[in-house]
Amino acid sequence: MTDCLFCKIVAKEIPSTPVGETDLIYAFRDIAPTAPTHVLLIPKEHLASSAGDLGSDDGPWMADLFVLAAQIAADEGLDDGWRLITNVGPAAGQTVFHIHFHLMGGW
Ligand code: AMP
Ligand code: ZN
Repeated sequence: MTDCLFCKIVAKEIPSTPVGETDLIYAFRDIAPTAPTHVLLIPKEHLASSAGDLGSDDGPWMADLFVLAAQIAADEGLDDGWRLITNVGPAAGQTVFHIHFHLMGGW
């Protein structure tokens, strides 16, 4: 999608700090962290605007995302626990409408 911030980050048109990736998923540091570790995980393709748009065929990339999240949590030393959060809609605080998950921990 041409006018999407996270599509531009995937395309390297906007810089980001990478934390990990797979063929399907890109992970990078949140620009305004609200936890000691605050990483965003997104599908490289603009597959959905939020978790409210998912269907049963979204299973494979979602599984990839969760596996990568656990790897990053281990890499970041979040052994005491971590959160994986997705906001759906403005009332929930969603500001970027390319589906993403916040990996947060290290408190
Ligand atoms: P949400 O509010 O759930 O839509 O999350 C969007 C997140 O994107 C927020 O936590 C922002 O801090 C983060 N964000 C916005 N612009 C950038 C950027 N250029 N690089 C990294 N993270 C960003
Ligand atoms: Zn996008």
